[in-house]
Amino acid sequence: MAYGESILRSSVVIVTGSSRGIGRAIAVEAARRGARGVVVNYVSQLDAALETARLVERQGSEAVVVRADVSKWDEAVELVEAAVNKWGRVDVVVNNAGILEPKEFAEMEPRDWQRMMEVHFYGALNVSRVALDYMLKQERGVIVNISSVLGLRPEPLASHYSAAKAALIAWTIAVAKELAEKGVRVFAVAPGGVDTDMARVWGDMDWVEEEIPLARLAKPEEVARIVLDAVENPYITGDVLTISGGLL
Ligand code: NAP
Repeated sequence: MAYGESILRSSVVIVTGSSRGIGRAIAVEAARRGARGVVVNYVSQLDAALETARLVERQGSEAVVVRADVSKWDEAVELVEAAVNKWGRVDVVVNNAGILEPKEFAEMEPRDWQRMMEVHFYGALNVSRVALDYMLKQERGVIVNISSVLGLRPEPLASHYSAAKAALIAWTIAVAKELAEKGVRVFAVAPGGVDTDMARVWGDMDWVEEEIPLARLAKPEEVARIVLDAVENPYITGDVLTISGGLL
C-alpha cells in the first residue's frame, strides 16, 4: 500500500468496548476517516452502544452493535463473525475493552486478578485470534491493543491491572514479529490518564494536577487520533506508543 493511500478508507473495523470512553472515540474517528463498517461492542450498556452507532452512522459509515464479553471465547467468535457476516472481512481490530477496580493486593481474592487478566489479556487474545484467520487470508490487517502507562510503570492499588497491561505489551511485541511478513501489524497504545468513567474510579482526582505534568487528563479523542494515525502508518508494528501528558 502506497503512502497517502488511507488504510482506513473502506475498511472494516472492530472496536471492543466502544459503548463509551476511548472506544467510542476510536469508533467515531474511524468512521470519520472513511471506514466502511464499524462493529460497536459493549457488555452491559446497550443504550450507550446504540448512541456510539448513531455517531458512527452520522459520519457516513455503517455500524453493527454486538453484545459480547470479550473474555469469553464463544462471544469473541460471535463478535468477529458479526463483521464478517455483514461486510465479508476484518481489517482493523482495536482491543480496547477494559475494567479497573483499584484495590490493594492484600485485599484481593483470586477472582480479582483472574477477572483483570480475563478481560484485558485473554479478551484481546480471543478477539485477535478469531480475526487473525481472516487477516491472514486477506494478507492484510492491523491489531491495536490499548494498554496503559501502568503496564510500563506499575502503581499501587492497580497491581492486577498493571500486570495485565504489561502482559498485553509483551504479547504485542512478540506477535508483531511473527506476523510482520504476513501483512498483519500489531501495536499497543499506552495512555496515561484519560477523561472517561474509568479515570473516575480513583475517586479523588487530585492526582491529575499533582502527577500529570500537563495537569489535565487526555480527551478520548486525543487518544483516538494517536490510535488511528498509527493504524494508517505502515511502519508501526511491535511498537508501544505512549500518550501521557508527561505522566510516564
Ligand atoms: P470506560 O469508559 O470505563 O469504558 C470501558 C468499555 O469497556 C465500555 O465500553 C465497556 O462496556 C467495555 N467493557 C468492559 N468489560 C468488557 C468486556 N468484558 N467485554 C466487552 N466490553 C467490555 O473505559 P476507558 O477509559 O474508555 O478505557 C478503555 C481502555 O483504555 C481500557 O482498556 C483501559 O484499561 C484503557 N486505559 C484507560 C485509561 C483512562 O485513564 N481512562 C488510561 C489508560 C488505559 P459497557 O459500557 O457495556 O460496560
